[in-house]
Amino acid sequence: MKRITVLGATGSIGQSTLDLIARQPQAYDVVALTGGRNVVQLAKDAIALKADFAVTCFDECYDELAALLSGSGVAVAAGAEAVKEAALRPADWTMSAIVGAAGLVPGMAALSHGATLALANKESLVTAGPILLTEARAHNATILPVDSEHSAVFQALVGEDMSAVERIIITASGGAFRDWPIEKLATATLAEASRHPNWDMGQRITIDSASMFNKAMELIETKEFFGCTPDQIETVIHPESLIHALVGFCDGGIMAHVGPPDMRHAIGYALHWPSRGDVPVERLDLAKIGQFNFRAADSARYPALEIARHVMEEGGLTGAAFNAAKERALDAFVAGEIGFLDMARLVDATLNKMSAQGGLQNATISLDNVLDTDRLARIRAGELIATLG
Ligand code: NAD
Ligand code: MG
Repeated sequence: MKRITVLGATGSIGQSTLDLIARQPQAYDVVALTGGRNVVQLAKDAIALKADFAVTCFDECYDELAALLSGSGVAVAAGAEAVKEAALRPADWTMSAIVGAAGLVPGMAALSHGATLALANKESLVTAGPILLTEARAHNATILPVDSEHSAVFQALVGEDMSAVERIIITASGGAFRDWPIEKLATATLAEASRHPNWDMGQRITIDSASMFNKAMELIETKEFFGCTPDQIETVIHPESLIHALVGFCDGGIMAHVGPPDMRHAIGYALHWPSRGDVPVERLDLAKIGQFNFRAADSARYPALEIARHVMEEGGLTGAAFNAAKERALDAFVAGEIGFLDMARLVDATLNKMSAQGGLQNATISLDNVLDTDRLARIRAGELIATLG
């Protein structure tokens, strides 16, 4: 039996992961599940999957979770330390599906048992890629990418030598506003930004898809995970979201990964790796689909992509500052404090301010420095909100 822990079990990726596990209960022993405010779902899943330990990241949700799990035999805890404790319990396979920079520390903890970390939490690579990879090497642990594009690249690279790779092309749906006139973007509402044309995902990543900050994160994630240079990484708009990524080799050949827009494929690939197992996603009818379309990603429409280029070039702690400023900007947009286009302006202004104050590019990347930079960037972005007007 494979011992499994799911960090962020109540979210979109977490629930898709549990869906796969629940189909083969005899194959898995669930060690720990963590979640947030949705303790009813967390308790239900912990009981159904016979988890040993259920954790909510919010202290104030402890009593409700404990009441729901009373007499079930599932141990209960709450708070950020408890989430880390869940990650530290020995498991063979851990899904890192917490949203945001909060996923970094638990993901690092999970690497310490030298097992497999299925990484959906792209923020860990954006903020602290080198630390995460070093930690994995130190413990002989394996990180498998779960973001659909990175799973696609990973699959296209099986049996290949990185030295033969010329370029990696990450596709983008273009998000909710890909066909909107640019002038209208400033008026985009929260409800409009929260609807994705192809994927059903958590609210934060859906808004990040509309602004292309999600793709910006993914370009940085590609650089960190696959160790390529920024000029080897491209993005192209592919409205159907059926080709997830393409890898171009030195002989001119391109390997494309094609699949339905269902995260259970990438999760299932990581779950069964290095073998392939059956995954219950739709089988594509190519004749019915008829065509795959591509178009260039317009940087005037998507300023986040330019910011990502800057972050990749600068390196150091720039990724940590970028991610935190982006999270703060997203919070402000969700709270109605700033407009849709202000998010990119705010991230850009925060990075400019922090770079001007020095210390981002050439700083040593340690976990403490990353966490300090994260805190500082949220403060700086908060200060700058008032100046946007
Ligand atoms: P979600 O918002 O649906 O779920 C997030 C989970 O994290 C929930 O279980 C929530 O309780 C938990 N959580 C939130 N804040 C927390 C905190 N401070 N501490 C501990 N736990 C916390 O998010 P999602 O869409 O499932 O995305 C999860 C991660 O996977 C993100 O990093 C996202 O970028 C990445 N990802 C998601 C998709 C997708 O299809 N949803 C695709 C690719 C990558
Ligand atoms: Mg993705």
